[in-house]
Order: sequence, then C-alpha cells, then structure tokens
Amino acid sequence: MIGILGGGQLARMLALAGKPLGLQFMFLDPADEACASELGEHLQGDYTDRALLAQMAERCDVVTYEFENVPVEIIDFIAEKTPVYPSAKALAVGQDRLTEKNFFRKLGIATAPYYAVDSFERLQEVMPEIGWPAILKTRRFGYDGKGQAISRSAADLQQAWRELEGSPVIVEGFVPFRREVSIIAARNISGAIVYYPLSENQHRGGILRLAKSCDNDPLQSQAESMIARLLEALDYVGVLALELFDLDGHLVANEFAPRVHNSGHWTIEGSETSQFENHLRAILDQPLGNTKTRGFAAMQNFIGGVPSLKEVLALSEVHMHLYNKTPRKGRKVAHATIRSDTPEALSGRIAALAKLAEQTDDS
Ligand code: ATP
Ligand code: MG
Ligand code: MG
Repeated sequence: MIGILGGGQLARMLALAGKPLGLQFMFLDPADEACASELGEHLQGDYTDRALLAQMAERCDVVTYEFENVPVEIIDFIAEKTPVYPSAKALAVGQDRLTEKNFFRKLGIATAPYYAVDSFERLQEVMPEIGWPAILKTRRFGYDGKGQAISRSAADLQQAWRELEGSPVIVEGFVPFRREVSIIAARNISGAIVYYPLSENQHRGGILRLAKSCDNDPLQSQAESMIARLLEALDYVGVLALELFDLDGHLVANEFAPRVHNSGHWTIEGSETSQFENHLRAILDQPLGNTKTRGFAAMQNFIGGVPSLKEVLALSEVHMHLYNKTPRKGRKVAHATIRSDTPEALSGRIAALAKLAEQTDDS
C-alpha cells in the first residue's frame, strides 16, 4: 500500500500509473470530493490529524506527497513508523524561498540576484543591487504566481511592498529570459538517476499553460548537472522538478518542486516511462524506467473549464485527462497531451488545442 498526502490530480495520476504495477493507494485529503479518491482509500481529514496519520503510517509500506506545503513535522511523525519519500530535508529546503535560494547558491547553481527583506527600509537599501524590474515574493506558501508583486520602478516600490507586507518576503531581480524550461529527474533509493528531456514552459498570469518536450536541447546537459547536484546533496528519493530560466544559453534556477510536476504531464504519453511511474519506482527502489521520448509531445492545461470532449477528441494524436474536479475560477481541471511524430505536426495540433482551451479559460 502506498500512502499519498493529498488527493488531487497529481495523486490521481500517481495512482493511475501504479495500478498496472499492482499497487494500492490510500490518500489523506480534507476535501469531500478529492479527485483521487475513486482510485483508492480516502482518509478524509486534516493533514495534521495524528490519528489519521498514524493509521496511514501503520498500513502503508511507503508514504509520499503531492504538494510541497505539507508541514515538515508531519513527515517526521510518519517517518518514525514508515519511510517517507522525498525526505523531510528536501521538503524543508524547498518550502522557504530563502533557504531554497541559499541552497542553490551553496551548490554553485546560478539564481537571479535576491535578498531577504524584513522592512521597507531594507528593501530600499538593496534595490540598487537588484535593479528594476524586481519581483517580491512571499518566502512561503506561494504557488501559481500567488504571493508575488512586481515593482517596475522606484515609484511603485512601496505599493508592491504593501501588497505583501506582513509575510516574510524575498526580493529578486527580474530575469529577462529567452524561455522558461524545467528538468525532471528521478532518483531511487539505491541512488540510480534518470533525467527527462527538458520541457519548455509557457506561463500566463503565473500559471503554466503549455509545456513542450525539447528534443536534443543544447542546454540539456547544463540542466542535468544542476539537478544532479540537488539530487545528491539532498540524498533525494523520488521525482524532482527544477524550474529554470534560459538566459541566452545560461540556465538560472528559479525554484524546485519535490514532487511530480505539471510540466512533466506530457511524459504520460510522450515518454517510454511517465514521471508518475518513475516516482513510484523510485520510492519502491525498483529499477527506473527509460525516459526516452516517443516523438514530440506537448501538454495544454485547461484552467477553470473544459471544452467539449467531442471537440478535443476530434483532434487526432490528442489524449485527454480529466481530473474529476468541479470547475472553479482559475482551477486546473484537466490537461491534454499531444504526441506527434514530427515537430511540424505537433505545432499544428498545439495551435488547435490552445484555441479550444482559450474558449473555456476563465483566468
Ligand atoms: P509555481 O506554480 O510554479 O509553484 P510560484 O508561485 O512558486 O509558481 P514562481 O515559479 O517563482 O512562482 O513564479 C511564477 C512565474 O513568474 C515563473 O514561472 C516566471 O514566469 C515568473 N517569474 C518568477 N520569478 C521571476 C524572475 N525572477 N524573473 C522573471 N520571471 C519570473
Ligand atoms: Mg512554486
Ligand atoms: Mg514556479
């Protein structure tokens, strides 16, 4: 039995990948309609409910999680009875943007210039070094660009500060990137590592919209060496995703996610072994699966709503993934993968799919 903290779409896709391997799942999630729940046992309750956590620890061979804001004490509590991967250390480092960026720096991984700031005076003091535009980010709990404020000039600095005032923040320089990419890797308990080809990612309003596989990317080995340093330094087990900015051929790290990642959803149909299956193999210390791509793949997110199934399925080489979630403004409710034999065919299909996604996107 595999225990997963969280019962959202990532847990759902982990379970879907685990079924053919004969695995069984248990999800801890406070929601009534947790979308993974139909694929296993749903322990409904708070993540801090010690009785439920003890039950999960008791009955599971291994526990993992689908979101990075799990309190670290909970991981420590479960880990006293049963193994939890990725470890509490990986989780703790990534939960705070300051410790995360300091960790990158210690490992020689380039980042945007950054400072922790605890007052407006301190912010003004460091701005000459950061320069404009700059981004203020809350150190904890940010996702999909929430908890961020941009300052474009000295004139709006105070306003940006006020937006986030009250939470510990960092300020970082804006990276004038050519493109955003991510690399996903998996490391198993024995220390074997596999890397996926880079994914090129397009965001709008801080939310990932489109992710596309990069074949033979010139920056692949640079990205692999960066994520390898993280995997080794954290003695990491599971799938790890590292978000990067391509700054004229030099990669700059933004953040990592100690879990399966939205930019890796195209691996379900686009790779020999998906990120979900490899995460399970890694935490069970099984041999890791081949990460070779099958042609060219991309993923389109559906935010807030989903176009009619008929229209999506009418596009050939398109695979639909509905998360069984009630549509709500700005909520990721589904994605579709396109897999083609040539980059040209892929581009045409991406355009068609993006057009459909626009119709129901409410964000
Ligand atoms: P996620 O949903 O990926 O966890 P998040 O809320 O943790 O998002 P970031 O990934 O740090 O936030 O930022 C969201 C997006 O904002 C980035 O993907 C990028 O497009 C843009 N962004 C963030 N930081 C910078 C920066 N320093 N320079 C340029 N763009 C940035
Ligand atoms: Mg993030
Ligand atoms: Mg991000």
